[in-house]
Amino acid sequence: MIEEKIKQTVRDVNDFPKPGIIFKDITPILKDPKLCMQITEALAAQLSGVKIDVVAGIESRGFLFGPALAQLLNVPFVPIRKAGKLPYKTIQESYALEYGTATIEVHEDALLAGQRVLIHDDLLATGGTVVAASKLVMQLGAEVAAYSFIISLDFLNGRARLSPYAVKVCSLASY
Ligand code: AMP
Repeated sequence: MIEEKIKQTVRDVNDFPKPGIIFKDITPILKDPKLCMQITEALAAQLSGVKIDVVAGIESRGFLFGPALAQLLNVPFVPIRKAGKLPYKTIQESYALEYGTATIEVHEDALLAGQRVLIHDDLLATGGTVVAASKLVMQLGAEVAAYSFIISLDFLNGRARLSPYAVKVCSLASY
């Protein structure tokens, strides 16, 4: 089963980036091209029946599988990046971190009004990042069709924060 395979492959790094955090390191997955393909196909399978016009991936680990998923779904890929990285005109959204705030942005012409967007990241923790991404999508007049993650940390209740934006939340391995 893919969940077991992902859990066997992901590396837990204790106390990164700070004490108390168990960081789920997905880089060992990237060394296994067969598993990468299975992950992309499993995410697409969970999304069957959901109309998706665009995949929006979140910097930086949302860029690892987001473009492959977009190619499999035969739709465009849009990068959502940390502030100051995108070269053209952008819109921004700030959100709270445990200490301080973070800002993400997207090109102002990245989405068309009415487009149905899949927001993709490697991992769902508290949901703050993808809620901010959802607000960017909505600022451009598009809508959030679904979310996809390789891993979700369900004990942090991130899913509850996503329900006002889209009901469909795909994840392949839950903790
Ligand atoms: P959040 O906004 O709390 O849902 O955090 C999600 C973002 O932080 C994603 O981009 C993840 O890559 C990263 N992240 C948060 N917690 C972890 C963790 N324990 N292991 C790996 N990445 C994490």
